[in-house]
Amino acid sequence: MLLFRQLFDPVSSTYTYLLADSAAREALLVDPVFEQAQRDSALLREFGLRLRATVDTHVHADHITAAWRLKQLHGSEIIVGAHTGAARADRLAAHGETIPFGSRALEVRETPGHTAGCITLVLDDRSCAFTGDCLLVRGCGRTDFQGGDARALYRSIHSQIFTLPDACLLYPGHDYRGNTVTSVAEERAFNPRLGGALSEGDFVGYMANLGLPHPKQIEVAVPANRQCGYTPQGEGAGAMPDWAPLSFTFAGFWEVAPEWVAEHLPQLQLVDVRERAEFDDALGHIGGARLLPLGELAAHAGELDRERPIVTVCRAGGRSAQATALLQRAGFGKVANLAGGMLRWHAQGLPVEGGPRG
Ligand code: FE
Repeated sequence: MLLFRQLFDPVSSTYTYLLADSAAREALLVDPVFEQAQRDSALLREFGLRLRATVDTHVHADHITAAWRLKQLHGSEIIVGAHTGAARADRLAAHGETIPFGSRALEVRETPGHTAGCITLVLDDRSCAFTGDCLLVRGCGRTDFQGGDARALYRSIHSQIFTLPDACLLYPGHDYRGNTVTSVAEERAFNPRLGGALSEGDFVGYMANLGLPHPKQIEVAVPANRQCGYTPQGEGAGAMPDWAPLSFTFAGFWEVAPEWVAEHLPQLQLVDVRERAEFDDALGHIGGARLLPLGELAAHAGELDRERPIVTVCRAGGRSAQATALLQRAGFGKVANLAGGMLRWHAQGLPVEGGPRG
């Protein structure tokens, strides 16, 4: 079974695509964004997938790729197009080559024009393709820098994308209006730059007069992406907290395992955010925990120690996850949720006070 997710980075309006063979548990990420490496890692972990490779459709000018970062975290292969000129890649994929994941694969099609090294990735059954910035929903990538060439782009789209089946879904590298997907038939008919009866000459005239501003991140992004997003150790490597073995959830908060909390109680502030009645009910509470019901937490957050790490606790781990977000907004840096709450704490036979076992 194919597992597929379209992920979005709101800062750069970039789409990242997760593709996996759910039986083989092998995944690819197409166009991952540096700042989203933690999110993508969380999703892989929650699905139980091994990241086989990252594939960048081109050397991006508007965001830094997470290829190198994800390789550090998962040992994934870095794959880029053969004509990108990028260093530190593990594989340069040329036209016609395939990129396997489990029993499925992506076919590489060279589609220069936005940049000289752009590739489009077509799923093995031709049900969908990932066009990067070559073809966008009712648009296309700009052609005014990085070896861009409007004539080449027109030919790439007509020969490599518009020749796919009508129903083939096309997933773009970006969208700035909230569109998520299109199809070959739609773009061939309605793309205002190069669909319908528009000729190569019409397209070149259109692209020469776009008058787009210089991309904000280009001076930073292009040099970094020519190194596949390499950052020297420790520099901007993502804010990985090191005060505990934490795991990040796709929902967006940090969690810590009950056993670790039980072994490190003296150095932690335990904040139990349940209601008063629950604190001494059948589940009891963890020794030394401070009761601050979720509804009162904001008003009392100032009483907590800003230096000592905080672990939030509730019955099953839901309210306490909300509490971590609240405390982070209040400026606390070291905050994590007790995974599974008091229910898991009990299930693991860890000591409690109050309640029947206390
Ligand atoms: Fe681009």
